[in-house]
Amino acid sequence: MAESMKGLHRSHRCTEISRENVGQTVTVMGWVQKSRNKGGIIFTDLRDRSGLLQLIFEECDCGTEVFEKAAALRSEFVIAVEGVVTARQGAVNENLKTGDIEVRAKSLRILSEAATPPFPIEENSRTKEELRLKYRYLDLRRPDLQRNLTIRSRVATLTRAFLAEEGFLEIETPTLIKSTPEGARDYLVPSRVHPGSFYALPQSPQLFKQLLMCSGYDRYFQLARCYRDEDLRADRQPEFTQIDMELSFVDVEDVLAVNERLLQKLFKEICGLELQLPLLRLTWQEAMDRFGSDKPDMRFGMELKDVSNVVKDCGFAVFQNALAAGGTVRGINAVGQAGMPRKKIDALVEYAKGFGAKGLAYMAIQADGSFKGSFAKFMQPEELAALAEAMEGKPGDLLFFAADKHTVVWDVLGNLRLELARQLDLLKKDAFCFLWVTEFPLLEYSEEGRFMAKHHPFTMPMEEDWHLIDSDPKAVRAKAYDIVLNGTELGGGSVRIHQADIQEKMLKVLGFTKESAHEQFGFLLDAFCYGVPPHAGLAYGLDRVVMLMVGADSIRDVIAFPKVKDASCLMCEAPAGVDEKQLVELGIEVKEEPEA
Ligand code: ASP
Repeated sequence: MAESMKGLHRSHRCTEISRENVGQTVTVMGWVQKSRNKGGIIFTDLRDRSGLLQLIFEECDCGTEVFEKAAALRSEFVIAVEGVVTARQGAVNENLKTGDIEVRAKSLRILSEAATPPFPIEENSRTKEELRLKYRYLDLRRPDLQRNLTIRSRVATLTRAFLAEEGFLEIETPTLIKSTPEGARDYLVPSRVHPGSFYALPQSPQLFKQLLMCSGYDRYFQLARCYRDEDLRADRQPEFTQIDMELSFVDVEDVLAVNERLLQKLFKEICGLELQLPLLRLTWQEAMDRFGSDKPDMRFGMELKDVSNVVKDCGFAVFQNALAAGGTVRGINAVGQAGMPRKKIDALVEYAKGFGAKGLAYMAIQADGSFKGSFAKFMQPEELAALAEAMEGKPGDLLFFAADKHTVVWDVLGNLRLELARQLDLLKKDAFCFLWVTEFPLLEYSEEGRFMAKHHPFTMPMEEDWHLIDSDPKAVRAKAYDIVLNGTELGGGSVRIHQADIQEKMLKVLGFTKESAHEQFGFLLDAFCYGVPPHAGLAYGLDRVVMLMVGADSIRDVIAFPKVKDASCLMCEAPAGVDEKQLVELGIEVKEEPEA
């Protein structure tokens, strides 16, 4: 029978005990990692969230009754032990923080027995993730996950302390709000009191934090839960957490500065890193031109080079046609890779096609300076030499070229650059290369053939570009910025529009009528009539920040109870059907699934 805690008090966590406590009596509690009965002596490894501690049961210390009880201990039993700390008599275990001590038990309470778990509770589990997620409460006992969640908690605490110190107020915003079909799909919650009406779960606190600025709160932050009903990719969750902030009376520089100090603090405290400020910055245009990505990984070079001018009169039709159609020809130099086997090159060509390339041209510079490759026969030797020079190619190098529309060439070479870095092992896990990407385009052209806000409809255009909004809207840059770490976007934000005329025009460009704009965010537009300070903000994906800090491969490893790719929870089996009665109350009728 499980015993109670009556009269017992834990004195230490397992690894809070050290050589300094030798001779003291301590009371420890936790789970049995494993217990080995070696005849007259029982060795039990006790585990709590701090780590492991060795307990020794010997009849001479604890008496027959306790010894016999200890003989029945099995993995994952929950126990409390009172005992005396002694220096280890056997070999010191270097791998254990408490490897030079042990606790000789005097008393034992079995607080809970345990069935055999479906997989071992151990570091670096090899158990399939599906099984671990079904029993997530057991998975969460594993030291690596406990470490990750402990660090996540520290990040939250440090963030709160830092922002409070900087004059930010932590304010909660509602999570039952009105649906605004901008951006991703909303999660909807039916209203019982208003049948046929729905709340939406927030995709971010965007409108509310801007309203808080209108209300004079000046500097706001929140660790906000956000929901987006997207088709999930590997690094997405339907619900996730943002470190969300908004500031009044600021411009881009102010937001970047306070956030650089926040990052400096977090990465110093958690990773022991000394970030040099200011962090590196690139405009969006530069990032695309040099790295083919708006979130370039800066741990390595291999920059894109524009060779359009060099090949503009050459005889290679692929290059010619791309340029004639208003496109571009660019290349990257895989230094020292001239000997890459044909099979590997072919695989890279296929990889490039996955990003929309019709093909990928390549050329190796041989040791004797001659050229060998897919298009050498279409060009004169001097043209090839000029191309190699433009690429800073030396004997032994392998050059890749893409010729197409700008967007395709960026995407193809940007991804090829990353793939080559992976293959050549250039992505060091312990390097942290931060980058601000600024001056994003204000608009992007959507698949449905209309302009969409690249960040969101409240983002401020750059003053110097605003006159182009009618003549050349694509050329208008925004006061928007992203913070990027090792090729991952950690967060982003913008200065907001606070002038009614600019906001009105912006909504018009985005295809809103006066009515539809009012229907969706009338309360914000109204609020802006009553005196609104210039304001700006930013939000980080907390899950991603922690993932990169701990070097995890997936954000699932830094979220206590994550969902899987189809947005379901394997443990609690959400989403699930509900009682007919609940549906009736909500006035909802569920259509039969059409037969497959
Ligand atoms: N609300 C924005 C987002 O979720 C961030 C911001 O602009 O502050 O991306």
